[in-house]
Amino acid sequence: MVVTAVKGKDLYSGKLETWEAGGMSMQYAFFVDFDGTITLEDTCDMLLMRYGNSRLWGINEQWENKEISTRECITNCLAEMRLTPEAIHQVVREAAIDPHFKSFLAMTQEQGYPVYIVSDGYAQIIQGVLARECLQVPYYANELHYDDHYTVSFPHFAKECGRCGTCKTSLIKQLAKPGVHRVYLGDGTSDFCAAAGCDTIFARGKLAQYCRAQQIPYRDFQSFQEVLLWWETVTKG
Ligand SMILES: [Mg+2]
Ligand SMILES: [Zn+2]
Repeated sequence: MVVTAVKGKDLYSGKLETWEAGGMSMQYAFFVDFDGTITLEDTCDMLLMRYGNSRLWGINEQWENKEISTRECITNCLAEMRLTPEAIHQVVREAAIDPHFKSFLAMTQEQGYPVYIVSDGYAQIIQGVLARECLQVPYYANELHYDDHYTVSFPHFAKECGRCGTCKTSLIKQLAKPGVHRVYLGDGTSDFCAAAGCDTIFARGKLAQYCRAQQIPYRDFQSFQEVLLWWETVTKG
């Protein structure tokens, strides 16, 4: 298999080079949800649990039901939660990650395959958790800004979508060139659209329910260990 991989300092520049592993030519890229996929608990839910109220859970429910956009949901929630930087730091300290995520990352990065975190949550939390774990992974998410209170911006909003704060579908189109085998890993509502457009889907939770309802083939996973085992069978051909 001839596996075309992104290597070394060009890891995330999108520059591809080829290494030999026998028969067919294949490129892979991994797109990984953050909350509830890399972290065991959804960090946005952690914030809501600590600083939210029943009205905000109601707004979150409307978002889950696709009745309102992420921008509407987050803007409303942030205005009412009155978060402090300490509240964010506390979630960063406490959000545990999947015990096998590091091995997954070490293996794919060492082999030169790109892994991207795509999240409709908060970049500052992702960045904090990655720093805490001494990990380097490119991530795309909504940005928090603090100036006496928190506001949010949506640098990866896509007009043609309008629903997502960070449109994963549009990011994947930009990051994976045609012909690249896209592997998606996720657990929630914000993953539905993006996962459906990928070639291999690892799903649990609401994403798994959605795939079943839509008859989209997917692989069940409880942890990154299952992803690693699958990856070993793929790379060994
Ligand atoms: Mg999630
Ligand atoms: Zn979208």
